[in-house]
Amino acid sequence: MDVPYSLGLHEIAPDTYAYLQPDGSWGLSNAGLIVSGDEAVLVDTLFTVPLTRDLLAAVDEALPHVTIGTLVNSHNDGDHWWGNQLLPDAEIIASEAAAADMRGEHLHAVLAAPGDLPLPRVVQRMRKVFDFSGITPNLPSRTFSGELELTVGRRTVRLIEVGYAHTRGDVLVHVPDAGVLFTGDLLFIGGHPVVHSGRIGNWIAACDLILGLDAETIVPGHGPVVGKAEVRRFRTYLERVREHGVSAHGAGLSVLEAAREMDLAGFTDLADPERLVLNLGAVYRELNGDGTPGELDLMVLLDEFDEPRLAPRPAAKVAGDVLALAGGLESTVRQLFGGGDAGPLEGFPVPNVLAVIGHHPDLLAHLAPLLAQLNQGLIPPRARELAILRTAHRSGSPYEWRHHVRLGALVGLTGPEIARVPAGPDHPGWNEDDRTLLRAVDELHDAHALSTGTWQALVARHREPQVLELLALVGTYRMIAGILNSCRVPIDPWLAGAAA
Ligand SMILES: [Zn+2]
Repeated sequence: MDVPYSLGLHEIAPDTYAYLQPDGSWGLSNAGLIVSGDEAVLVDTLFTVPLTRDLLAAVDEALPHVTIGTLVNSHNDGDHWWGNQLLPDAEIIASEAAAADMRGEHLHAVLAAPGDLPLPRVVQRMRKVFDFSGITPNLPSRTFSGELELTVGRRTVRLIEVGYAHTRGDVLVHVPDAGVLFTGDLLFIGGHPVVHSGRIGNWIAACDLILGLDAETIVPGHGPVVGKAEVRRFRTYLERVREHGVSAHGAGLSVLEAAREMDLAGFTDLADPERLVLNLGAVYRELNGDGTPGELDLMVLLDEFDEPRLAPRPAAKVAGDVLALAGGLESTVRQLFGGGDAGPLEGFPVPNVLAVIGHHPDLLAHLAPLLAQLNQGLIPPRARELAILRTAHRSGSPYEWRHHVRLGALVGLTGPEIARVPAGPDHPGWNEDDRTLLRAVDELHDAHALSTGTWQALVARHREPQVLELLALVGTYRMIAGILNSCRVPIDPWLAGAAA
């Protein structure tokens, strides 16, 4: 079932609901509801009292006859239980390990404290975005270890503890009669996950357990409702982090260096890449075996993760250069800002990619006409953006990905199409034209040449100059990705909130 990723309560199977909070970044978690007759089990409350009030109001509006008698907290992160106090009469269930961490928890008071505190940027941002006032921790009234079966009306809900994965007390909530699984934070979709007190090896094992369950509709702790293909991809991510962490640790790299040097090819679409610091730190902690580096020490490093190697040149200086020579690039830059076709470029901020290359004005002067030609050349805009997105993805450039998500949407790529670019040419959703294009990009990455079959498919569809331009396009955007990744060009703030 295709569940739209929009704020609110969605019926994902008969009498089974997910409450989704896009975009799923820090603190924006999902909840679940399993109903039978007038009884219901709620899976998780939300980060704050007001957000949880919205959740309960949505339930009340859709299902006025239902009483939530049982609440399950999937783990001890605040975004899954700090709204518990709004269900004073419900039985609250968590694993014993999660409950132990909830009892010792005091972070909500830090977040609610007034005034400026020396906290990492992500935490500062959460203090701005969320209203942490009025939280009174309402702890679990019932705990368990291993497995627990609940009965709600005529339905069975299975709680399966798989601790020490994301945290030490993680619980899966399986609804066998609906083929639905609520994973809590054992699954993140659309963003990098976070390893807190858990361990990556156990998390990979938890993915295998999930893949073995009879559940085709899977609600992650953060992000849209998915199926098992996304769990497999998530498992690959964890494996890649573990492999990279082990080799970086062996090579004597610091956690920060390891995070910055992680090859993101295949995972450019994931938001919150700074979380690599926490995840690789967890691998290091396991390898060190002495509890270091601690999570708080890692949090301090988050702000340093995306510090540029080569800072964008002051906009005023580059603006002059760009205006003087950009020519055809103007309309691309205008589109990026959502501006119209007319009017001078002055007043638009200069994208960081140009502001960084602008350190070498002559290079920028020669590159700009090539980019302009490729962006307004012979390849139809939709095909061009599809090829660039796949190139960005294969080249591990979140910057290039983010820019071309916006440009692609402007020339007709749909949300679902953009979302399946990471899956590559073999995804069944593509038509033959798109598949040929994506395959060409992949072959240029993997073999630096087109296969006979792809060449023939391309020349059957396009004139030879168009094929030449496609080859130049892919090569150029690989080169740009190399510059973006190596200089660590920061994603432009005006694009930071754009859907990934
Ligand atoms: Zn969470």
